[in-house]
Amino acid sequence: MITRMSSLFLRTLREDPADAEVPSHRLLVRAGYVRRVAPGGYSWLPLGLKVLRNVERIVREEMDAMGAQEIQFPALLPREPYEATGRWTEYGDNLFRLKDRKKADYLLGPTHEELFALTVKGEYSSYKDYPVILYQIQTKYRDEARPRAGILRGREFLMKDSYSFDLDDAGLVNSYNLHRDAYIKIFDRLGISYVIVSAMSGAMGGSASEEFLAEAETGEDTFVRSTESGFAANVEAVVTPAPPAQSTADKPAAQVHHTPDTPTIETLVDFLNAAGLGRTFTAADTLKNVMVKTRAPGEDKWQLLAVGVPGDREVDFKRLEAAVTPADVAILEEADFAANPFLVKGYIGPKALQNNGVRYLVDPRVVTGTAWVTGADKADHHVVDLVAGRDFTPDGTIEAAEVRAGDPSPDGRGTLVAARGIEVGHIFQLGRKYADAFALDALGADSKPIRITMGSYGIGVSRLVAVIAEQSHDEHGLVWPRAVSPADVHIVIAGKDDAVRAGGERLAAELDEAGLSVLLDDRTATPGVKFADAELVGVPTIVVVGRGLASGVVEVKDRATGERTEVAVDDAASHLVALTRR
Ligand code: ATP
Ligand code: MG
Repeated sequence: MITRMSSLFLRTLREDPADAEVPSHRLLVRAGYVRRVAPGGYSWLPLGLKVLRNVERIVREEMDAMGAQEIQFPALLPREPYEATGRWTEYGDNLFRLKDRKKADYLLGPTHEELFALTVKGEYSSYKDYPVILYQIQTKYRDEARPRAGILRGREFLMKDSYSFDLDDAGLVNSYNLHRDAYIKIFDRLGISYVIVSAMSGAMGGSASEEFLAEAETGEDTFVRSTESGFAANVEAVVTPAPPAQSTADKPAAQVHHTPDTPTIETLVDFLNAAGLGRTFTAADTLKNVMVKTRAPGEDKWQLLAVGVPGDREVDFKRLEAAVTPADVAILEEADFAANPFLVKGYIGPKALQNNGVRYLVDPRVVTGTAWVTGADKADHHVVDLVAGRDFTPDGTIEAAEVRAGDPSPDGRGTLVAARGIEVGHIFQLGRKYADAFALDALGADSKPIRITMGSYGIGVSRLVAVIAEQSHDEHGLVWPRAVSPADVHIVIAGKDDAVRAGGERLAAELDEAGLSVLLDDRTATPGVKFADAELVGVPTIVVVGRGLASGVVEVKDRATGERTEVAVDDAASHLVALTRR
């Protein structure tokens, strides 16, 4: 196919859009791929739509190849199925809710577990029907709190979502692995660099779940990786290696010290080191008790929770949230302190917590036999050598302390370094939550019902266009990998005379004949404008038909490397076919 720039619905921009924070957003707008319609709402112009369709095609091919079957649901959905699973409310403000003319409640689908479960229940009844994997590539709606970076985080976006239905756990694992393999093929074909991170810690009791994160400095997700092994994980999923328990017998007795003016860890450490206690203290020797409150789903009442972490670390709120989910968690307010006068701000210790029945969870480093400096539950007082397992017994451990570069890798090999990424895919062993909500059963060989177990798997199709742009661009513009480029070859007719124009047209026709897609710059613009646009648009191979034609050559330029080669015009078509088919 030949796309002529003279008539293409495309206007490139010389200036960056004012609202663009990241390169992909800036370039996709400047190169005329997308245009903003509303916060988190973008239209796809011809070149953008071609890239989007290419991504979609690769996703579809690999889904079909693994045996998944494509179906399509409406985006406009009735409330009832989402009411049945509690997600009508659980989704909170992220859900677009609306009413029809009869005042019935509807929503715009953010993800479709309910509908897939109901549909399978409607069609299948026997164990012989299973397993089955269904998918769709469909527009999703989420009223994101912070739509961001153009199509990276939209409120309307294209997602591939698939769902597996199996009779038993082994089947679910198999369906999960099929997806994992297909995702690797998809992201490899798209040419992105990514890591697979475990998304949930075992402590949460969740079943297997992994995220595919495209590496990008501009990413919103932070993850850590080991310097020495392939270990990579979301910060929320990092499990702190616990040191071995120690004997409590040889530890000095706990002593309360008057420590005036030491409300912070820093002032406390300075005070202790100046107090002549015969050893040096660091912030890591102190135990900081951070007060929060949690609320279980469906409950009105908040419960106090004390989180004990080594004083050299902050509580990471996202880790804390992940650790207590599905409960909500919030910081204590003044009123909470006022209602619980045993909490002496700045001097909270394990004693008062335990005497007053406050749930007390500590960092995994607080093992039996470790001695701590912590609050003595009295203003201006701390206790030194309070020994875990002897002087206090926490209710359990919690992964809430920040993870830092240099921490040991949970797999015991190397240390952790921090990196940033953008989530492009998520695979998740759901289990029976949705099957339970809808009583999705298969009749077994023994005529007994078998509760189906599900997996759910997503890929951000439209987000991937931005992710590829994020990973593949330079100061002049976009640089598409061949697999998704809006054209195979971009021919620039650089010159006004008829011979040059005819030469460009002829080459375009030959390439078209050979099955290549050609973007032909046949405009009357100056060569300078055309070259700049070619760089901006980012087709991986640019052919300049210009002055050289008189001596029988055209110039072939590699957009990524900038490398230029002169090719005899008679060989140009076969050269380009070979190049693009490589
Ligand atoms: P995120 O943490 O980025 O909000 P999520 O956990 O909400 O993602 P899922 O519900 O697992 O994402 O959705 C599956 C995939 O859809 C994600 O991996 C991501 O690639 C894509 N996606 C999710 N939200 C958006 C959005 N607002 N805009 C574009 N793509 C999105
Ligand atoms: Mg989200």
